[in-house]
Amino acid sequence: MESMSTSGDELRDLYRELILDHARNPRHFGRLENPSHQAEGINPLCGDKLKIYLDIDSKNTITDACFEGSGCAISVASASLLVETIINFNTGQVAKYFSAIIASLTNTEKQAGIDLGKLKALEGVKEFPTRVKCATLAWHTLNAAIKKQHRTVTTE
Ligand code: ZN
Repeated sequence: MESMSTSGDELRDLYRELILDHARNPRHFGRLENPSHQAEGINPLCGDKLKIYLDIDSKNTITDACFEGSGCAISVASASLLVETIINFNTGQVAKYFSAIIASLTNTEKQAGIDLGKLKALEGVKEFPTRVKCATLAWHTLNAAIKKQHRTVTTE
């Protein structure tokens, strides 16, 4: 019997392709001229380094964002997907996504009412605990940028 729905394997292949695509061609890669917010994050276990730049307006909306850095495919793809997702979000929405993505990557309780969309592609890393920090680095760095924490974020 052939099924019309996408099988788990096909979905995993799609997610892997999405991650590889973002790792090879990161979106919004670069720096902003005069960002209102920025932060740097490192994951010493893997050697991933990221800087995230944000423009946040007076209504707490992220009007522009980009990132630069170097690291493994998962860390770069995660940052690329993150920046693509959060442009035009307000900081309250970002906080909800932050909780939801951390929960989905660390296998704790799911956040109700949040559709992670493409970010679901990252969920596969929870099968590889040592890579979870590669995927969460961008989110911790984003959080630090929004909160204007000026020390470097580290996953260790
Ligand atoms: Zn990594």
